[in-house]
Amino acid sequence: MDFADLLSVDEARARVLDAIRPLEAEEVELRDAQGLVTAEAIRAPHALPRFDNSAMDGYAVVAADVASASDTAPVSLNIAGEVRAGAPGDVRVEPGHAARIMTGAPLPEGADAVVMVEVTEEHDDVVVVKGGAHPGQHVRPAGDDLPAGALLVAPGTELGPGELALLGSMGVTPVKVRRGPRVALLVTGDELVNLDQEPGPGQIRDSNGLALTALVSQEGGRLVLSERVPDVRSAVVAAFERAAACADLVLSSGGVAVGKYDFVKEVVSELGHIELWRVAMQPGKPVVLGSFAGVPFLGLPGNPVSVHVGFEQFVRPAIRALRGCSSLLRPTLQATLSEGLTKKPGRLHFVRVRLRSEQGAWVATPTGPQGSHVQSSLVDCHGVARFERDESEIKEGQQVTVEVWRLP
Ligand code: AMP
Ligand code: MG
Repeated sequence: MDFADLLSVDEARARVLDAIRPLEAEEVELRDAQGLVTAEAIRAPHALPRFDNSAMDGYAVVAADVASASDTAPVSLNIAGEVRAGAPGDVRVEPGHAARIMTGAPLPEGADAVVMVEVTEEHDDVVVVKGGAHPGQHVRPAGDDLPAGALLVAPGTELGPGELALLGSMGVTPVKVRRGPRVALLVTGDELVNLDQEPGPGQIRDSNGLALTALVSQEGGRLVLSERVPDVRSAVVAAFERAAACADLVLSSGGVAVGKYDFVKEVVSELGHIELWRVAMQPGKPVVLGSFAGVPFLGLPGNPVSVHVGFEQFVRPAIRALRGCSSLLRPTLQATLSEGLTKKPGRLHFVRVRLRSEQGAWVATPTGPQGSHVQSSLVDCHGVARFERDESEIKEGQQVTVEVWRLP
């Protein structure tokens, strides 16, 4: 087998991403925007916080009055009133006076500092202050978090709880976002039976359908069609027609190798368009990028591990591109490989690994046998170590780059 004419993984992914355009943006109420991706920059309509307010329960004071107050030299101030959180704060604090104030309440006019309740004693509308204050003490000034007009969220940001809370506090709703793509999944193979069926001789349960359903939904895709397709040409054609009619992305498993009954490539290249199918990677060499009735199509091999690795290398970035995410790839980290590996040069091997942290450094251990049919290699798997195309050996204790799927 000559590996020289195989496409590199990076080149293959670049071609996949070249064929993908972000979906249309739409306006969505903020409360429904969890996990959606911003389609434009969002700026602060006003400062945050909007008004000077107290960071403590205590007393709003004129700092100069109590600058040198202490246990041994307490200062007494007359109480001018009280400001509660949510109240307008229309008390005026003259020198020699203080106002009771609660956390988050607006700093009353005249006051420029807060002393916390713990260093005071109050009786008969007089507060005795036993701790000093400087101007601005325990005050959160207006705009301390963000000034009006500041960038809140850049385009291409996935909205999570933190972003939602910030936008919510600014009253930003609706927001311009992109939803996850509608995905149609075609799982090919005459050998497949449902998960709840007892396989007959030579049959296997369709685990790829389940894995791909989980992977698509994990990445925010919406599965709008999921069909098992027999290895019959007319059935493959009909399934592709149904899929392309309802989805933003068609995904398939199996049927892209060179077997007599692998019809996917043939059908798509006749009725649509196909761009590539041999990538210098292990597992998962045959990968199809195409389009059918104008809808982008990604075809993964049938072997379960190839499906998983192919999804991570090509499909997840494609879904993220459709969603308009600004970052498309999994993060990487450097880890020490706990055992040596060898291979023939020519293909990039994605070695499934478990990660653990040892004295602040990551250690990666292969998950066992690495064949593309070895499903147990995906259990407790935190990602893949890159055993680069030209390399033939990684020694025990050597550093490797790990593409992280999840952390332990
Ligand atoms: P194919 O790429 O269609 O030649 O499939 C390669 C191998 O992957 C098959 O021989 C099966 O062992 C396995 N396979 C294919 N489809 C599935 C599936 N949906 N679930 C689990 N294994 C599968
Ligand atoms: Mg097949």
